[in-house]
Amino acid sequence: MSNYQLKVDNIFEEIKIIDAHSVGLQFPEGLKIYATSVAKRIENETGADVIISGDISFGACDVSDTSMKGMVDLLVHFGHTPLQLEYDVPILFVEAQFQLNVIPAIKESLNLLKNYKTIGLVTNTQHLHILEETANFLEKEGKTVIMKQGQGTRKAQVLGCNFSAVEDLPVDVYLYVGSGNFHPLGIKLSTHKPVIIADPYRNEARNIDQFADRILRIRFARITKAKEAKRFGIIVSSKKGQLRLELAKNLKSMIHKEGKEAYIILMDHISPELLVPFMDLDAFIVTACPRIAIDDANMYKKPLLTPEELLIILDKKKWEDYKIDEIRIC
Ligand code: SF4
Repeated sequence: MSNYQLKVDNIFEEIKIIDAHSVGLQFPEGLKIYATSVAKRIENETGADVIISGDISFGACDVSDTSMKGMVDLLVHFGHTPLQLEYDVPILFVEAQFQLNVIPAIKESLNLLKNYKTIGLVTNTQHLHILEETANFLEKEGKTVIMKQGQGTRKAQVLGCNFSAVEDLPVDVYLYVGSGNFHPLGIKLSTHKPVIIADPYRNEARNIDQFADRILRIRFARITKAKEAKRFGIIVSSKKGQLRLELAKNLKSMIHKEGKEAYIILMDHISPELLVPFMDLDAFIVTACPRIAIDDANMYKKPLLTPEELLIILDKKKWEDYKIDEIRIC
């Protein structure tokens, strides 16, 4: 399918094994365009009825098992690797590997890597299959490559909320293979070490520093503003992989001890529109996906902060020790 390789044959096998008559399909946004053709193949080749989830799904933290419970015998979730969660229906995770030639981008990165000897190699779910080739190439160039098994992730795999694969690695620099700033920013905010991006879609390499500095300045401004806040909303997600109720309760009690107000708000989807009725609050702490406060900051009128940032606001942690918030499910 285009440049994506989806292992659809595994689905037929699994349907046969569990004798599924009804199958749910769930795709991340970028793969949803393939939903109807996958559904057609499944229906034609197995006779099972297919229900496609039309809801937004950003990760394995957000699987539609609960909404499809009682409707399907099997749910096939594409594009993400499984998390250690208890699901309400049997789930088959199907990876989507993007097929591309990574070497031109790695060659581009060599100039930015020239002052570094030991490299922490890292990527996201769609590109795990290119790691070995990349590591071999870099080693032939005289580099030492280190890849670490994360907690709840594969070797050298980061999620937007799980950077355990880059934690405490004895490396001079991290090389992220993939596109965009989302994961490299997380690596930078987690490790504070140099991070180079080798982008095989554009065949270019760049540094994340400038972008990360801009984000840190925004975070500093939001934290400073929230220090004046007297009334906080603490957002808890109803999505299984983002639900951190105990943390929310702890934060609430910390805020109360400072003589301030705090209210826990349970939400499935979080958006500026859905927060409009709560504009009497001064700031929000997001215990749901850690990236909402950081990556969507400009969309919100009131400061949205991570639990880590609340600790800085309450003077329990120093700004110099700033780290990205994480949800490690393992
Ligand atoms: S919590 Fe956020 S960053 Fe983590 S997997 Fe879910 S959507 Fe991605």
